[in-house]
Amino acid sequence: HKYVYDFAEGNKDLKDLLGGKGANLAEMTNLGLPVPPGFTITTEACKAYLATGAEPAGLADQIEAHLEALEREMGRRLGDPDDPLLVSVRSGAKFSMPGMMETVLNVGLNDRSVVGLSAQAGQNDRFAWDSYRRLIQMFGKTVCDVPGEEFEHALEEAKRARGTTDDLDLAAEDLRGLVDAYKKIFAKHTGREFPQEPREQLDLAIRAVFESWNAERAVVYRRQERIPADLGTAVNVVAMVFGNLGPDSGTGVSFTRDPASGAQGIYGDYLANAQGEDVVAGIRNTVPLQELERIDKKSYDELLGYMARLEEHYRDLCDIEFTIERGKLWMLQTRVGKRTAAAAFVIAGQLVDEGLVDLDEALHRVNGAQLAQLMFPRFRLDHEFDPVAKGVGASPGAASGKAVFSSDRAVELAAQGESVILVRRETNPDDLNGMIASKGILTSRGGKTSHAAVVARGMGKTCVSGADELDVNIPQRRFTVGEHTVEEGDVISIDGTTGKVYLGEVPVMPSEVVQYFEGTLDAEQSDNPLVRAVHRIMTHADQRRRLTVRANADTAEDAARARRFGAGGIGLCRTEHMFLGDRRELVERLILARTDDERENALAALLPLQRADFVEIFKAMDGQPVTVRLIDPPLHEFLPPLEQLAVNVAVAQERGEDVAKEEALLAAVRRMHEENPMLGLRGVRLGLVIPGLFAMQVRAIVEAAVECAQRGGDPRPEIMVPLVGAVQELETVRAEAEKIIAEVVGESGVEVLIGTMIEVPRAALTAGQIAEAAQFFSFGTNDLTQMAWGFSRDDVEGAFFWRYLELGIFGISPFESIDRDGVGRLVRIAAEEGRAARPGLKLGVCGEHGGDPDSVHFFHSVGLDYVSCSPFRVPVARLEAGRAAV
Ligand code: PEP
Ligand code: MG
Repeated sequence: HKYVYDFAEGNKDLKDLLGGKGANLAEMTNLGLPVPPGFTITTEACKAYLATGAEPAGLADQIEAHLEALEREMGRRLGDPDDPLLVSVRSGAKFSMPGMMETVLNVGLNDRSVVGLSAQAGQNDRFAWDSYRRLIQMFGKTVCDVPGEEFEHALEEAKRARGTTDDLDLAAEDLRGLVDAYKKIFAKHTGREFPQEPREQLDLAIRAVFESWNAERAVVYRRQERIPADLGTAVNVVAMVFGNLGPDSGTGVSFTRDPASGAQGIYGDYLANAQGEDVVAGIRNTVPLQELERIDKKSYDELLGYMARLEEHYRDLCDIEFTIERGKLWMLQTRVGKRTAAAAFVIAGQLVDEGLVDLDEALHRVNGAQLAQLMFPRFRLDHEFDPVAKGVGASPGAASGKAVFSSDRAVELAAQGESVILVRRETNPDDLNGMIASKGILTSRGGKTSHAAVVARGMGKTCVSGADELDVNIPQRRFTVGEHTVEEGDVISIDGTTGKVYLGEVPVMPSEVVQYFEGTLDAEQSDNPLVRAVHRIMTHADQRRRLTVRANADTAEDAARARRFGAGGIGLCRTEHMFLGDRRELVERLILARTDDERENALAALLPLQRADFVEIFKAMDGQPVTVRLIDPPLHEFLPPLEQLAVNVAVAQERGEDVAKEEALLAAVRRMHEENPMLGLRGVRLGLVIPGLFAMQVRAIVEAAVECAQRGGDPRPEIMVPLVGAVQELETVRAEAEKIIAEVVGESGVEVLIGTMIEVPRAALTAGQIAEAAQFFSFGTNDLTQMAWGFSRDDVEGAFFWRYLELGIFGISPFESIDRDGVGRLVRIAAEEGRAARPGLKLGVCGEHGGDPDSVHFFHSVGLDYVSCSPFRVPVARLEAGRAAV
């Protein structure tokens, strides 16, 4: 089995096996770029090691063979006392996990080869001893778990003795003394001397990199970034080159375009006379990459040439790490670089212009999550505020408000019309009301899957979590950060995209991307490259997508906005919202009716109101399908709560008032009480139990459609029955509806479809039967998820999902993104069996998942005709439907 690949043997498509770093080093080697020679030990070797606790058979020999080849190529032997080869041992998984795993530099140094290194470096003792002490420090810490602080203390001590705070002031003899001190620390903690044998150093370092795959921070990071836990890391063994050999040496990073805006140009940083870790540690200030032209024009020009080559080769933004050793440029790493959402769109557009990619490929370079980010209002870029802290951008958006430190206070101030930001160490389910009342949530602990983050995302509320520079004092209602103290009532601003926290109110600007979707900004005339790029890519997505995107909208206003955003109809018009406000009284009359007459009167009063609602919606969606769902929630939701009524009645009785009506209401509420209302008298069950209710709605829908048609419109009503679990339920409702339709439609030419939601697991499992009675199915994945998992959709996210996410039981709430294996399977079964029974059956989805990027791909793959989502999500769904189709 081949476990080790020379750089010349790999390529960029072998990331599974060689990791991202190894695959790209191989690619650069084969492009003829100056990569220090080396080899990669595969992820398979890592997996075998982690499974058994021992290196797989044959690995040691293969390493030996590749090491010998490397030694021949370099003309040096590992750890040779006179002229040593030194190597770095670097982790590199398939997906970049910055800083999560281990790296050991300068492997091959020992008490003897340190002298040879000095000679190689032109009798530079200082450099040689500094390299040796770095090896002991890194090796001790990462390979042997020696506490890092001990080395740092010793280093501080040496600097104090020399009367300096700068590492660079330490002389060779100081560093030599430090090596002795480090060796003692090493021996004290490990019970052995620092290994002098170079091959032993190498083997132990490789092992440590393997093991770092399971380091706690790596595990946590993977969970957050949804990187599978079983990929393993590759290990790269690379000949050392040194950026710290003097002023003609240095190290830097560069980007082939601006990763923030996507603009073309030269972006990067350079640090002379330094190694990579110095840049990361921020010990000294870097200079802009352009300065390198002045410092070392030859290397600069060479680097620019490679940057252009790499970009053309990868056909994308690349980021690069390089080192210059005495005027010789070495390429240490490249990869397709991370970028902001805006840069992703701009760059995709530029690459099309440059002929590097076609529009299909450009579609793959962006995604719906990025588009959603661009649609939030954001803080103005030119504002003069400096952030005081930075946490995790847990739920996007820009929010300003008064800091409050308790949920109750948030509710109180919000009720007075104040904007508030709820600040907590971390949130828990008791904070729910405060979170609802707040404009944004800021916590000093927890990451992307903390309670605060999960709940805020669910609510679409801005959240910054884990801003650990904040010292939050709840009893005193204040937090401190640096020299600032923020008291309750002080205004702060938080950016849920970048995780930045500001003092005061930062000015906000609306998203130009939204203005473009609204039609108030003409993309072709705009000088904003982002808007032009979005327009271009969206236009292509629309051409490519097979799925129609509809909207969930209950009002003409929402319908009109959805249409502007590109919706091709309404997939869910929930009628229960039409029974609120002053219509509640009519619903009360309906519920309390003791005779047929009373009930019919109440329904007759509701009919014209409902009809008027539908007329407006049909007008807004003229020529496009509108799926109206018959009433779904339990009727007692329209009545006052039991406790409140009981109190009212008691108080009124006390005062000797006439309470006959209240008593009747109270009796009705008692009678209608349900322990599990979500599983009780709702949906189609209402239609079967309450005479005339569904009939009134059907009549209102059809009369409204006829009215619109008679005025020259083109209404396309689709009547949808909720919560069906058995075909007999649907047949009963349908028979009644068809009579009304036949009677009302007359000569108007209006066509009405009757279909059902599939949101009860039994409906999915008997879809073949149900399809006999339904002209369309619309998957109600909210209830389907609730009933398939047995999770109360109104309670669980705030109550315990954070724990499920922490444990990795699922990577994302199944209410947010479709659970493909379980709920998705029900959808697939129903789609297949429904279409088998009724070829051409129209299929859609109207649960929240209709606007979730990953779910859209799933719905595309099971062959649905449309997804329906909230108006604001329509562009995201259009984009993802396009991406799913190419
Ligand atoms: C559903 O259950 O997915 C659905 C769309 O209906 P509601 O959310 O109104 O229950
Ligand atoms: Mg439902």
